[in-house]
Amino acid sequence: MYIGAHLSISKGFRAIVEEAKSIDANTFAFFLRNPRGGAAKTIDARDVAEARELMAAHGFGRLVAHAPYVLNPCAAKPELRAFARETMIDDLHRLAALPGNYYNFHPGCHVGQGADAGIALTTEFLREVLPEAGETTVLIEAMAGKGTEIGRTFDELARMYDGVGDASRLGVCLDTCHIWDGGYDVAEHLDDVIGAFDAAVGIEHLRAIHLNDSMNALGAHKDRHARIGEGHIGFEALLRVVKHPKLAGLPFILETPNDIDGYRREIAMFRARN
Ligand code: FE
Ligand code: FE
Ligand code: ZN
Repeated sequence: MYIGAHLSISKGFRAIVEEAKSIDANTFAFFLRNPRGGAAKTIDARDVAEARELMAAHGFGRLVAHAPYVLNPCAAKPELRAFARETMIDDLHRLAALPGNYYNFHPGCHVGQGADAGIALTTEFLREVLPEAGETTVLIEAMAGKGTEIGRTFDELARMYDGVGDASRLGVCLDTCHIWDGGYDVAEHLDDVIGAFDAAVGIEHLRAIHLNDSMNALGAHKDRHARIGEGHIGFEALLRVVKHPKLAGLPFILETPNDIDGYRREIAMFRARN
């Protein structure tokens, strides 16, 4: 089982791998730059080489880098779309230092243009960005449907996926809090949810899981993450996600409101029952 948490890259790659090890994680997520989209730190080749050696020695799975939250690939203003495109391409070029991993992004908010227009813009965005992905696989994250977010339904994810043409560097990341808030009952009907995803997108395109409880009720469209077992989904349901045979081998990333000790505790909860 590959399980980890979203950690800070501020002390570098070797330090983040050491921190992951210290909480019994064997994968992790990170931002390459400030989540608001600021300048990225320069990547030190030696630091990355040491990190990669350490991960290989300790059997780490694939990492899941996260695009800055502020990017809106389907913004109405062309300059905002250009900023999203340039920032993401820059991140992808940096990730060439860590080949073979994942990079997930939020498909965006249509800001009143309508979901169809938003989906068309984000699909076009992917067509422009994916040729720069190198050996990284870009993952569309399923969203809660807060405000004008696109990518709430598996059908919307499928339309983006199917629209890009060459999808060899594209996959999907499901966030348990987001899809619960989006109306998919992962607590009581997990098999049906996985079946619906398989029918719409194809289970083979599911590459990573963000493992979060939710502060809100099913279908609330809120997107407020809760600690594992302290939300409306619950620990036993999230344990069924982690143990589901169709999700075996995926990286499970905690994005719960926690400090490092909280992440260590949550990873231990899952490892104790797996
Ligand atoms: Fe996210
Ligand atoms: Fe997430
Ligand atoms: Zn979220």
